[in-house]
Amino acid sequence: MQLLRSLPKIDKFITNKAFDTLSSSLVTKIAKEEIEKLRAKILSKEVDNFSEDSLVADVVAKYQSLLSPSLIPLINATGVILHTNMGRSLIDPVILQNASKVICNYSNLEYNQDKGCRGERYEHVSRHLTELLGVEDVLVVNNNASAVFLILNTFAKGKEAVVSRGELVEIGGSFRIPEVMSQSGAILSEVGATNKTKISDYSNAINEETALLMKVHRSNFTIEGFSEETSYSDIKSLAESHNLIDYYDLGSGYIPALPYNLGSIELPISKILEDNPTLISFSGDKLFGSVQAGIIAGKKEMIDKLKKNQLLRMLRVDKITLSILEESIKAYMEQKYELIPTLKLLFTDIEELESRAQTMRQSIGEELCEVVESTTVMGGGTLPNREFPTIALYIRGKASTLERAFRAKGIIGRIERDMYLIDFRSIESRHEEKIISVAREVLSR
Ligand SMILES: *Cc1c(COP(=O)(O)O)cnc(C)c1O
Repeated sequence: MQLLRSLPKIDKFITNKAFDTLSSSLVTKIAKEEIEKLRAKILSKEVDNFSEDSLVADVVAKYQSLLSPSLIPLINATGVILHTNMGRSLIDPVILQNASKVICNYSNLEYNQDKGCRGERYEHVSRHLTELLGVEDVLVVNNNASAVFLILNTFAKGKEAVVSRGELVEIGGSFRIPEVMSQSGAILSEVGATNKTKISDYSNAINEETALLMKVHRSNFTIEGFSEETSYSDIKSLAESHNLIDYYDLGSGYIPALPYNLGSIELPISKILEDNPTLISFSGDKLFGSVQAGIIAGKKEMIDKLKKNQLLRMLRVDKITLSILEESIKAYMEQKYELIPTLKLLFTDIEELESRAQTMRQSIGEELCEVVESTTVMGGGTLPNREFPTIALYIRGKASTLERAFRAKGIIGRIERDMYLIDFRSIESRHEEKIISVAREVLSR
């Protein structure tokens, strides 16, 4: 048992120079575990020899792996701007910097400085957001799924909510309108056919149990051909004449960033508000381009009722969300669209993308890659079946091998017709240096 006796003593072992810059409590914990493991292996005769150096190396490796972050930044070179798997909307560093003043300090989150008493959490974004949207009142919850849930639970629990069969959407993952409805306690009253729903379908469905008429934006699919959709203004009038609540789940929530706009591709929120809806809701991190949140807007009387629902406590947002959202809203108010990365990326001129791609091609080596025109989609369950022009750098070589090599270095590209593409539509200029250095490394192998 000579070997057992030669196992290092913990007190002495942790004074090794290799641990000098590391946390001694964490090193001690890991060292004890590693020495114990080694002792067990010696006893079971799995190990008949060891070196202290390799034990030190094991402890350092374990230390580093324990502290390696789980969430890491990636470069999105897929061209899909609202990539749900990669975090949807980007937050501009300036927005985060401004928000950090609130996040890193005590704040008036729920404190009324004038009166010296408890304040109202939701007042903060309300002032700016009601101004931006031109609505009576707003309420911000955790995400748009929460918004749908809260609205149905508050106004249609145990009652019927009427929705077109053409709008019973699944948003990906676990969000399906019919299921959210049943979880909320609302009874789904589906009307019309998949391809056609007329106003008479809605009116025929109304009975004493009906509480709400709901329209859902077909966020991630389109219905073409022999089809008919009822306009929101018709649904609104019908609801009004029966004293029912009308609610439009907009999904994305698009505010046109002048001088750019999406024309008829996606109706701006302002256009939908012309119909004077009782309630609308949309995501904070889709086309709106801010932080994950569910934004509810509409009549004050109804927002007040939502605020009284006990469930709100479970769906409420914290100061991080509120302060970032407030900064994004202020950027919209001042038309500083350069602070909304989602819109900035979407509306970057094709000429600018082309010139950046050419520059990158020069840096990587003209014989190794080629600038190509292509198309991309918005993603994130928005703007279905709409393609946007884009420019990509086609890297010569076996697409699947290149895809893997770039991915290992944190660059997620796209394969199209067996070509590996670095798509500039979703790339911020500040990441180009990194792409060039990875490309040089990968291509020199
Ligand atoms: C995306 C979407 C939701 C869910 O919004 P999240 O913010 O992802 O929770 C709900 N309804 C529609 C129509 C959507 O497009």
